Amino acid sequence: MKHFTKFALAVALVLAAPAHAQTQTGFSPSVESSIQTVLPRMITWRRDFHQNPELSYEEVRTARVVAAHLRSLRLEVRTGVAQTGVVGVLRGGRPGPVIALRADMDALPVTEEGDLPFRSRARGHYNGQDVGIMHACGHDTHVAILMAAASVLAARREEIAGSIIFVFQPSEEGAPPGGLGGARRMLAENVFGDLQPEAIFGMHAWPSDSGTITMIPGPTMAGSDRIDITITGSQTHGAQPHAGIDPIVVSSQIINALQTIPSRQMDAVRSPVIVTIGMIQGGVRYNIIPQTVQMQGTIRYLNPETREDLYARIRRTINETAAASGASAEVTISENAIPTVNPPELLARARTAAIGALGENAVRNGYPVMPAEDFAYFQQAVPGVFFLRREPARGFHCRSRAEPQSALLRA
Ligand SMILES: [Zn+2]
Repeated sequence: MKHFTKFALAVALVLAAPAHAQTQTGFSPSVESSIQTVLPRMITWRRDFHQNPELSYEEVRTARVVAAHLRSLRLEVRTGVAQTGVVGVLRGGRPGPVIALRADMDALPVTEEGDLPFRSRARGHYNGQDVGIMHACGHDTHVAILMAAASVLAARREEIAGSIIFVFQPSEEGAPPGGLGGARRMLAENVFGDLQPEAIFGMHAWPSDSGTITMIPGPTMAGSDRIDITITGSQTHGAQPHAGIDPIVVSSQIINALQTIPSRQMDAVRSPVIVTIGMIQGGVRYNIIPQTVQMQGTIRYLNPETREDLYARIRRTINETAAASGASAEVTISENAIPTVNPPELLARARTAAIGALGENAVRNGYPVMPAEDFAYFQQAVPGVFFLRREPARGFHCRSRAEPQSALLRA
């Protein structure tokens, strides 16, 4: 985590004070000593958040801790931005540009296993079910890191040319039905106030190669859409399928046909796509062919320019596969997040800052990944860079078993 703090500081110092920082490699001994001082507090904050996770738009306690900390640093603080979001503004001692640093705060409906002393035992309600709650995506680290960066930067406010906006975002893990996710809602509620940032930066912790970061120009994380499909056939006896239309057989054909879209219809290099059906439900008895089958899935894509074409192919494949058997299909595709795309020029500046702080070997190139991030909506409003680590050991979300093994969580 220490390295992420350094990166946040590097970005802030380089972009807010370019003349000072361009000749700089690493931090001065006094900044280094501020970082060392805040590290134990950062670890304490992070464990506290880990033990007290909160679901999307329920980050009340987290927001309270964040706001109290920012106020203690004498930042201008706004709370209740997008319900539970917190924004802190640090105005530097000299005129200069405005930049924003963003961390997401919410946890997931995952029950934590393992024996960590700061393991979560929190429970709550999600989709009408009683669930365990866990920071299974690492947002507890993001909040602690940004709080630590705020501490170090606030102590040096006189040196900073320009202003830094600290954005603590709720509800990254998905929008509520019919509502907006945290990034979109913060933007709709004027997250930056009277300031217009020149750039925004965000990151996601990734449990591998501790001490390194990966910065990728262009698409970095995928666009993510949800797909809901209802296949309607005609109910009949399992021994007399000819007397009806079997939506279960049609569904199986659709699932297979959908896989030919990424593999046979889209450009594998320019437009990587994933279509995953994660839920299928139909029928009540072993020998009755049901009337309908419901399916839900996720679509992932990296190239924003090919999204509409992709949608059209998915709809055509589903509708015409169903029609071939005389069934009908209803398809709804709902936007979850657009792709996270790093503008190359800004990325190059951020990369210089990161190398200055961490050294050449710690800043890696890499390949995009297909999970999604709603930081992408901030990038629509302000040039923004999002960076991460590569090669997750055992997947990204919902790693309730794997996560306690990672160095990240033990930090
Ligand atoms: Zn996440």
